[in-house]
Amino acid sequence: MVSFKKNSEESIKQGIELFVAESPGNRKSQPEEGPYFEKPLVGFADAVDPLFKEYKKIIGNFHLTPIEILSKLFPQHSSDWNGASVISWILPISKSTRQSNRKEIRGPSADWEQTRIHGEAFNNQLREYVVSLISKQQGLAAAPMLSGIFGVYQSDKSGFCSNWSERHAAYAAGLGTFSLTRGLITRSGVAMRCGSVVTNLKLKPTPRSYDDYQEYCLFESCGKCIHRCPAGAITKEGHDKDMCIMHIAELMDESAEGYPGCGLCQTGVPCEAGIPPK
Ligand code: SF4
Ligand code: SF4
Repeated sequence: MVSFKKNSEESIKQGIELFVAESPGNRKSQPEEGPYFEKPLVGFADAVDPLFKEYKKIIGNFHLTPIEILSKLFPQHSSDWNGASVISWILPISKSTRQSNRKEIRGPSADWEQTRIHGEAFNNQLREYVVSLISKQQGLAAAPMLSGIFGVYQSDKSGFCSNWSERHAAYAAGLGTFSLTRGLITRSGVAMRCGSVVTNLKLKPTPRSYDDYQEYCLFESCGKCIHRCPAGAITKEGHDKDMCIMHIAELMDESAEGYPGCGLCQTGVPCEAGIPPK
């Protein structure tokens, strides 16, 4: 049980770290194989950070701001949003899973696929846990991805997009910058899953130690991800989402369990497990 007696940011961070370290949901099917995810990174953003309005221009007008989400989910509390915040986390994919995926050339390793399916189920448990943690402190909170208002839209600018982007929330919360593949390069690398919760709790925003949205990516001198992609979906100009989706759809037809992901561009690359040195 996490107490909020200390500062709230530290309490939430400790709660997330403990949940990831101790939860049986973060264990692969064979216990000796270890966890899906290593120690998480946690960051906070102001719900009225101008970036969230900027995302409407970048992604599409359908992309919701944290205040829009809170207002839709808690309409009876419309006066409670002064100081509202976003809690964001990064779940770094375990070393053994990353190592297994490095060897692949067409689709994900079995471990990567299990992480995409069962590890993401654990990420949903974490979303529910963080909401419960805030509720116990009498705060209002919701995980946009698990809420009834979450949806996928066709954007003129970016193809199919959801109305809440976990990676964009993490960028706002100081956790990383975008890569050539449109992943997020964090202190723990690009091989990760991420999640978020919006709340009316006032939390101190995490400073962003970057000025440019691609600051951590070495796209001008590296391009290793271009050669890792079996679908030819990555070029120096960026990531072709449609080509990537088509490749994953092919893999899906062959998978017994559903959405397998791919992630070849996130392993065997210099940004796999950290910010690549310039
Ligand atoms: S492999 Fe290189 S170019 Fe590709 S995302 Fe990582 S750092 Fe950027
Ligand atoms: S861009 Fe898509 S298809 Fe290409 S390696 Fe990355 S996940 Fe796989």
